[in-house]
Amino acid sequence: MKADIASLTLPELTEAVTALGLPKYRASQIFRWLHKAGVRDFDEMTDLPLKLRADLSNNFVIFSCDIEKKLCSEYDNTVKYLYRLHDGERIESVVMQYKYGYTVCVSSQVGCRMGCRFCASTLEGVVRNLTPSEILAQIYTAERDLGIRVSHVVMMGMGEPLDNYDNVLRFLRLIADPDGKNISMRHISLSTCGVVPKIYALMEEDLQLTLSVSLHAPTDEIRRAMMPVAKKWDLKALTDACRAYTERTSRRISFEYALVRGVNDSPACAETLAKLLRGMLCHVNLIPVNEVAETGCKESAPETVRRFAEILSGKGFAVTVRRKLGADINAACGQLRRGAAKNDTFSADIGPAQEEKQ
Ligand code: SAH
Repeated sequence: MKADIASLTLPELTEAVTALGLPKYRASQIFRWLHKAGVRDFDEMTDLPLKLRADLSNNFVIFSCDIEKKLCSEYDNTVKYLYRLHDGERIESVVMQYKYGYTVCVSSQVGCRMGCRFCASTLEGVVRNLTPSEILAQIYTAERDLGIRVSHVVMMGMGEPLDNYDNVLRFLRLIADPDGKNISMRHISLSTCGVVPKIYALMEEDLQLTLSVSLHAPTDEIRRAMMPVAKKWDLKALTDACRAYTERTSRRISFEYALVRGVNDSPACAETLAKLLRGMLCHVNLIPVNEVAETGCKESAPETVRRFAEILSGKGFAVTVRRKLGADINAACGQLRRGAAKNDTFSADIGPAQEEKQ
C-alpha cells in the first residue's frame, strides 16, 4: 500500500525520502509543495525532476478532497462544501469570512458515534476516522478553490475530534508547522462533547489552542437526555477536567451551549449553569439550536436567548450569542452529507442560496 505522504511530519518525510536514496533537502521541498502550496498531484511539484516525481507517485499517495457540492450564501460570504474522499465517503467543511480573516470549520471523522440528540452528523453513527492529511485537505482545497488564505481553523465540523485523538494531534502539528500553513495554535479551536480522559491528555500537550466544550446543559439529568457521552462522564468529572485544563494551560475554555426550547433554556437553567461554572476561566457561547428535522429539537425564542444571556452576564460571565452565518445554506452540520447520501441531486431545503455544482 502506498504511504499517505501529507500525514507525515517533516522529520518522518525526511526519513522516508532518504530511504528512497534521495538527498535530505528534497524532503523540505516536497513538504512545502504539500503544505504551503497544497498540491494535489506529484506532477504539480514542478521543480522536482520527472524521475523523482514518478518515484514519489509509485511510493506515496496524496489524499485530496474533491468538491462534490458547493453552496455559497447570498447573505454573507459563507461557503459550505460537500467533499468526496478517495474512498467515496463524504464530509463537510465550511468557510466563514470574519473581519480578522477566513476561518475554516473542518470535520474530523466521517459521521460521529457520540449520539448527541440534536446533531445531524451522528444520526447514522461513525464510518471512519479522517487521516491528518484528509483534515488538512479540507483547508487546502477551500483555499485553492476560493483563492484565499485561511487564518483560523475550528474543529467543529462532523465528528468528535477527541475520538480521533492521534490523527487530530498530528493534524494540529502539521497545520501549525512553519514550513507549512504556519497557522498559529492561538488561531485554532477544538470542540469536544467532553471525552474527559482526552481532555487531560490534551492538557499534557500544552498547546495554545482554544478548547471548546459542548456543555449544553447545567445538570446531569438534562445533559444525559441530550448527550449520551454524559452517561460515561458526569458534570463533576467534566468540570474537574476543564478546571485542571485552564489551570495548567492558562487558556480560557469556551463552553458551547445550544439552547433547545423547553429543554435547557429556562432562567433556572441559566442560574444553575452560573453555579456550575463559577470561578472558572471561561466564556459561554450560546447557540440557538439549529433545527434538524429528525431530532425534533426546536430553537428557543430570541427573548428566551436574551434572558438566558443576561442572567449569565449579570453574574460576571463573558457571554456571546452565536451569530448565524450562511443562514440560507443552513444545512446544519451533517445534513449536507445525509442529503447527498439519500439523493444525489440534493435540491431540498437549500433556500435561496446559489448552488454551484462542480
Ligand atoms: N463533536 C464535537 C465537535 C463537532 S460539533 C463537539 O461535540 O463539540 C460542533 C458544535 O456544534 C458542538 O458544540 C455541537 O454540540 C454543536 N451542534 C451540533 N448539532 C447542533 C445543532 N443542531 N444546533 C446547534 N449546535 C449543534
